[in-house]
Amino acid sequence: MPNGILIFAEHRDGSFNKASFEAVAAGQQLGAAMGQPVSAVVLSADATLAGEIAGYKIEKVVSVENAKLDEYTPDAYADAMERAVRALDPAFVVMPHTYLVRDFAPKLAARFRKDVISDCVRASVEGGTVTFSRRIFLGKIDADVVAAGEPPVFATFQSGAYRAEQAEKGGGAAVESMPVEVGDVRMKPEAPFQEVKAAVDLSKAEIIVAVGRGIKGQEHLALAQKLADALGAELAASRPICDAGWLPIDRQIGSSGQTVAPKLYVALGISGAIQHLVGMKNSGTIVAVNKDPEAPIFDIADYGIVGDLFEVVPVLTEEIKKLKG
Ligand SMILES: Cc1cc2nc3c(=O)[nH]c(=O)nc-3n(C[C@H](O)[C@H](O)[C@H](O)COP(=O)(O)OP(=O)(O)OC[C@H]3O[C@@H](n4cnc5c(N)ncnc54)[C@H](O)[C@@H]3O)c2cc1C
Repeated sequence: MPNGILIFAEHRDGSFNKASFEAVAAGQQLGAAMGQPVSAVVLSADATLAGEIAGYKIEKVVSVENAKLDEYTPDAYADAMERAVRALDPAFVVMPHTYLVRDFAPKLAARFRKDVISDCVRASVEGGTVTFSRRIFLGKIDADVVAAGEPPVFATFQSGAYRAEQAEKGGGAAVESMPVEVGDVRMKPEAPFQEVKAAVDLSKAEIIVAVGRGIKGQEHLALAQKLADALGAELAASRPICDAGWLPIDRQIGSSGQTVAPKLYVALGISGAIQHLVGMKNSGTIVAVNKDPEAPIFDIADYGIVGDLFEVVPVLTEEIKKLKG
């Protein structure tokens, strides 16, 4: 009988991405709610990688090993994961909703004649039944999904749905290696495409200062940049700013940009359209500066300043500089 939660931890160039630790948090919470053991799988023979995941409160980490896994290909990953899932027989396979997972997970699930319940923002457990919630219609509606049929259930979680800091440390997880057979790899990988190798990975930023159309012109971005520098923050933007070419596309937050969950998100002159909110509403603390007191961004802001950003931001920057000495 399938049992337990199996977390897929994604690594590239010798390190895990933040979304993998969020998947650890999701897997741990699901395991606790279901009363089922939690383990993780790392597709690499690198003992350091497995050791890092073993530092979390989980039962075991399985290093799935084959030289064909050195470079990512959907063929090799699907083969290796299929073998790991068949051997470990989990009830749930929990994965981060990254580009890489989106690429191979449907192929993997299809081998079990399963769907992937993708891009979930929550998993709640009642009476032993797990309900996965996913945002649909550009985040306007949450759909609750319950998997039909036999396990395993394959689910991916949206970046920011769980916080990486919520992943409980523990240590003492057993590390096992599992050499696997991998069939023919039919594709030759090229360099990862731009989003993965973006100049800035905003999902890793602890503080983000984001600008919207209220900034009026590219020449005023320096104002926001000074605030970002004072806070040690990354600069980001709403879509119109990137569409105008004032900032590169990899700094766009929202449904067609990056999804982020920094500790602090400062929104300057951003109205709070749903397509922007879906990309940042899981941030720890949200501060909004907007001259319109009715702007929807204030519905989700923890702190709001109703005012002209051209007056507010310089004062804010100076005060922060003073605080930091
Ligand atoms: C399919 C689709 C996908 C989309 N994807 C995204 C996405 O990924 N990310 C995204 O952001 N948007 C996205 N959008 C666009 C989205 O609908 C909004 O149009 C956009 O988010 C608005 O950006 P904004 O808040 O900067 O501009 P506006 O909505 O124009 O808001 C500007 C705000 O600035 C305030 N303001 C003006 N002057 C000042 C001042 N001096 N001081 C303080 N405040 C001031 C105004 O009160 C206003 O609230 C998408 C839309 C579609 C249809």
